[in-house]
Amino acid sequence: MSGYEQRVAYLRETIKEISPEDALRMVEEQKALLIDVRDGDEIKQGMPEPAQHLSRSFLEMRIHDVCSEKERPIAILCAGGLRSLFAAESLKNLGYANVYSVMGGYKRWKEASLRSKIPAQLNERDKERYARHLLIPEVGESGQLKLIQSKVLLLGAGGLGSPVAMYLAAAGVGTIGIVDADIVESSNLQRQILHGEDTLGMLKVESAAGAIRRLNSAVKVQPHPVYLDESNVLDILSEYDLVVDGTDNFKTRYLINDACVKLGIPNVHGAVYRFEGYVTTFTTSSSAPCYRCIYPEPPPAEMAPSCAEAGVLGILPGVIGLLQAVEAIKVLLGIGSNLAGKILKYDALHHDFSVLEVEKEEQCLCAKHPDEIEIMPIEPQVCAV
Ligand SMILES: [Zn+2]
Repeated sequence: MSGYEQRVAYLRETIKEISPEDALRMVEEQKALLIDVRDGDEIKQGMPEPAQHLSRSFLEMRIHDVCSEKERPIAILCAGGLRSLFAAESLKNLGYANVYSVMGGYKRWKEASLRSKIPAQLNERDKERYARHLLIPEVGESGQLKLIQSKVLLLGAGGLGSPVAMYLAAAGVGTIGIVDADIVESSNLQRQILHGEDTLGMLKVESAAGAIRRLNSAVKVQPHPVYLDESNVLDILSEYDLVVDGTDNFKTRYLINDACVKLGIPNVHGAVYRFEGYVTTFTTSSSAPCYRCIYPEPPPAEMAPSCAEAGVLGILPGVIGLLQAVEAIKVLLGIGSNLAGKILKYDALHHDFSVLEVEKEEQCLCAKHPDEIEIMPIEPQVCAV
């Protein structure tokens, strides 16, 4: 027996092998994880429908991201049932207690006519375009595909919406909706870099769509040149996976908050005033606070300056908008930690970043069942920063 044959014989004795049917049963009944460890090229023709792809070469490096519970059953599948033996041994050595190898691999899975899927793949153009994302394990090909399939709605194509739109488009977010009923004015150009002198007088959503198209023609832009109110907010927001709030008037913020809470859509919120900016993320987690947890009621009108009267350093919404874009990407990819329950405050005049903790309020609207949440009327105005 060669050394290799001896190793395989040893692995067959020490690793539990199960049939594809048993693997499927474990996934359905015991919440086991089925991991397909074949290479990217091998899965193009198909893979088990309930499997996650984690190629053999990255298995040890990334298994923790896929499964952090060491007791959870894991079934490993390859093409014919050999590589999965080696992979299973490696996971056992990493401390995973219940690891199995699927006998006969994907060949036998197909012969048994179990459910398969053709995984989505990046085309060659996208592989080149997003090469720097593909190099980051936390993004990779599956993360990039997620971004391409994501739909993000920007509330306002102004100071905050400008950098968010540009960077989300550059990152490959597939669908970007923009709500803004205003036209481009010369006083906008001090900060709203989506627009230019050649688009003065144009609807901001049209000007923004042109800028996004120049940067990434694959992005689908959905313009909504309307003022948000209680009659249209649910219809518009419900088409999207995530909302980036760049509006600057309080009433619209409450409207967006209430609609996001009702619909279960994460909302990345930003605000700027003179030299100060704030970012926070309202997620759909039941323990996370919403905008009303922080500000239960709108301030009186005389206390709430709008963009036209408050003034803002033109660069500041660039900084805050980019922080919103980072939050949006993390939430879409489900990576890292986000600003749920925290407000990140930036003081540009004194180069100071600070984080304030905020609690969920038990009496707040976000503690209610979504069906009980009523969308209350607001004054019909959306003002982009
Ligand atoms: Zn709340």
